[in-house]
Amino acid sequence: MNANAKDLDLYLEELKSIVKKRGLKYSLQREQILKVLFNAQKHLTPEEIYNEVKKENSTIGLATVYRTLSFLEREEMVSSISFGSEGKKYELNRGEHHDHMICIKCGKIIEFFDEELERLQEEIAKKNSFKLITHQMNMYGVCKECQE
Ligand SMILES: [Zn+2]
Ligand SMILES: [Zn+2]
Repeated sequence: MNANAKDLDLYLEELKSIVKKRGLKYSLQREQILKVLFNAQKHLTPEEIYNEVKKENSTIGLATVYRTLSFLEREEMVSSISFGSEGKKYELNRGEHHDHMICIKCGKIIEFFDEELERLQEEIAKKNSFKLITHQMNMYGVCKECQE
């Protein structure tokens, strides 16, 4: 992990302040879901998150996980990648922008960052007098292993 990466406490603090700002009640589940995403080194499905949280909290339901993920995504604490009809995978927003290549056969996700591509996107936006705020680049295809 990155040496300057934020530690878990900072994410929990951020979550607390969002919850307070929105006038919501405290919930342990939200913190547990955030913790699972923090510890994950990969993108997780809601079911995978559910199974992890369940080890600590047997009362959690899958619907709560879905609801909490939508909430965290709206608040920009997590991001998701769509797998079409197969649903979404989630990751914690660590504040380091990156894009994704997604294998449609095995579901593998390759993260990448390309200076040139970033620059080009800004240029395209500018040409169209478009004020770019954020973007998500997902490239769908077949990974090296699945081509064999
Ligand atoms: Zn693959
Ligand atoms: Zn990612």
